[in-house]
Amino acid sequence: MKKFISCVLVLSLLFAALVLPSSAATVKTECQGECETCPAIVVPGIGQSNVWALDENGDYLLDADGNKVSCFPATFDIATIVSKVIVPVLFTLVFQADIGLSDALCDVVRACFAVNACDPETGKNTGNIEVEKYPYSVAECSEYEKKQIYNNIPLQDYAAQVGEDHLYYFAYNSFGNNYDTVCELYDFIQMVKEETGHDKVNIVPISMGGSIANGLLDYFPEVMDDLNKVVYIVPALNGSTIVGDLFNMNLSFFDKEFLYNGFLETLMDEEEGRMIEVIARILPDEVLTGVLQNVATCLVEDVASNITSLWGLCPKEDYPSAAEALLADKPEIKKQTDMFYQAQCNSLANIQKLVDNGVEVFNIVDYDVPLYQIGSSWNNDNADGVIHLSSTAMGVKSAIVGETLGEDYVQANTSKNCSDPTHNHVSPDGVVDASTGLLPDTTFYFDGQNHEKTARNDIIISLATRLLATDDIHDVYSTPDYPQFNGARDPRGLKNTYIPAAKQALADATDISEADKLELTEAIAAAEEFVNGTVCYDGEYREVENRIIKILTKIGAWTVEEKEEPSTIFTTLSLWLYKHTGTDGYSEVGATIFVTIAECFIQPILDLLT
Ligand SMILES: [Zn+2]
Ligand SMILES: [Zn+2]
Repeated sequence: MKKFISCVLVLSLLFAALVLPSSAATVKTECQGECETCPAIVVPGIGQSNVWALDENGDYLLDADGNKVSCFPATFDIATIVSKVIVPVLFTLVFQADIGLSDALCDVVRACFAVNACDPETGKNTGNIEVEKYPYSVAECSEYEKKQIYNNIPLQDYAAQVGEDHLYYFAYNSFGNNYDTVCELYDFIQMVKEETGHDKVNIVPISMGGSIANGLLDYFPEVMDDLNKVVYIVPALNGSTIVGDLFNMNLSFFDKEFLYNGFLETLMDEEEGRMIEVIARILPDEVLTGVLQNVATCLVEDVASNITSLWGLCPKEDYPSAAEALLADKPEIKKQTDMFYQAQCNSLANIQKLVDNGVEVFNIVDYDVPLYQIGSSWNNDNADGVIHLSSTAMGVKSAIVGETLGEDYVQANTSKNCSDPTHNHVSPDGVVDASTGLLPDTTFYFDGQNHEKTARNDIIISLATRLLATDDIHDVYSTPDYPQFNGARDPRGLKNTYIPAAKQALADATDISEADKLELTEAIAAAEEFVNGTVCYDGEYREVENRIIKILTKIGAWTVEEKEEPSTIFTTLSLWLYKHTGTDGYSEVGATIFVTIAECFIQPILDLLT
């Protein structure tokens, strides 16, 4: 009997040794899936995943400084670029005609984007690259990996409250295959459920991540049962008109008048833009615009149209014409993008299904920042600089940037998801009617907030943290801390520089007047209240900053750097050329420029003399 018992004991110990650790190892969380908070998965935006170029041996390609070469948005080897274009540039300048310049520049475009090239037969990336992925929770990430993740979305407070083992970052290639990425996200969600022991997850689709989520909800409708909350942040649910205009070759700079006067100033510092305008006149306008058209066509036809994830950013209104023009001889890509187009058309209906099935869906969007003026449709809708507002805010109606819906405007209440028709969903500035978006009660708007600086707005990050880490907030009425309409801000200057400097000045202050001391004390208090608060209006942080700077300067504890008057020589010159010679290049103007100069300067002198 003893022998039997010891045999059983040994066997059970062996069994335990073999089976228990492996099943226990699959759940890695401290809570074993028993805690109240579902793990969160960030689905980041375009360019928010590291993609590295590799050499022929599969090792990382390194630049001259020994750093890894990023594939986003392309790789630029200056020596190759110069060697390809130098001769055509010289010929084109000498003969004032496009002698091989378009061809050379198209070669350069193809070479720079080679790492991001996709096969027109399959829609899959053919570049020699590596996507830096984190197929484990942030708790298991290296310090380097944590730095990459928190730099893109500073969710450190969330991690401190809930635990880094409840935070995941789904990295993917922004220029990869859309369908593959969606499938990977579905598998990732299953992996997170297993690893955390939770049967549901929260997902956070940001910007381009919104288009990936469109695919997820449409191709894998069963994923609904895996989701607890969806917290969208500036999601590209109906693409961006910039991409739609690009695919339809509806580009603003094809208009000569805009190209020579205004276009560059929307993208860079005015004086820099004007300098380029002055230099560009070294070619006749027809030659320059012809070259630009050829290069844009090459970029769209040879590069962009093969990248299915970029098609994920094409608005549904722009897709049919663009697909007809660009994908007629690429049936496999068209099959995939047609499928995505369907997912995009179903986007709001699929989100409605989530809501109807008890998944809490929140949306955080920015508005009142004009789109980059690259596509001709840039001013058709309000925007956040990168995505038009009706895309991020689920079909919402708004006035364009700089205008309002009008004093007599009456809220339209077209969404069935508003729980109370007496809610006021029109923004205080009269720009947005939130009652017309799909989710009036759970969409948060940030006035004047730029898309690219969304993660620097600490209110947005603390709101996302509250939504993910607690169950306190169910809609825009849950707490006055997070109202439906809020403002843009980036308080890093106040937190890191001005408040510490003011406190130091107050501690050091011995010979300042009582009135100044009082103002300094009050300015610090106001700044701290502002920084610790979660409600503001657009531009308020500058006012709070300026108050501190003003008193610090007055008591001699701060020197405002004298800004040199910026030079305006190229601005004056470019505007003068545009006024007197239109869009002509120097060689076309020739003698007429001297006549114009004569008219401008000599005639008034003659008039004076006579
Ligand atoms: Zn848990
Ligand atoms: Zn409502």
